[in-house]
Amino acid sequence: MKLFADVAGFAFTPNHESSVWLGTAISDIRGRVMAGAIRVCAHLRPGMVAITALWASDRMVCNACVGMLAVSGDEDRRCDRCGVLAEAGQIHPAMTSLDPSGAVLVLLGLCASCSQREVAA
Ligand SMILES: [Zn+2]
Ligand SMILES: [Zn+2]
Repeated sequence: MKLFADVAGFAFTPNHESSVWLGTAISDIRGRVMAGAIRVCAHLRPGMVAITALWASDRMVCNACVGMLAVSGDEDRRCDRCGVLAEAGQIHPAMTSLDPSGAVLVLLGLCASCSQREVAA
């Protein structure tokens, strides 16, 4: 897990307990996956790490396709938790996992105050 955190350049806090908000967001995505209501890239195979994002929870991609999850313009600065548009550079990237095995990673971007709440420093 630490390896992937390094590769993706995202902060990862393995001991952080998720909030109710994050738990709900994660179970929403899990439900979408179970229902098959999510688009996957052509490369994903069983056993590979899949990556999705709170802001693109209709898509799931392999490590190489993670750029496909990117959004541009204002949406790139929107906090996934409270929806505020943060100043450029003030969105804190974070990462969590759909399940303890870490087979599905979920990226999220949080404003400064939500980041403090969700990702204890
Ligand atoms: Zn791919
Ligand atoms: Zn926020």
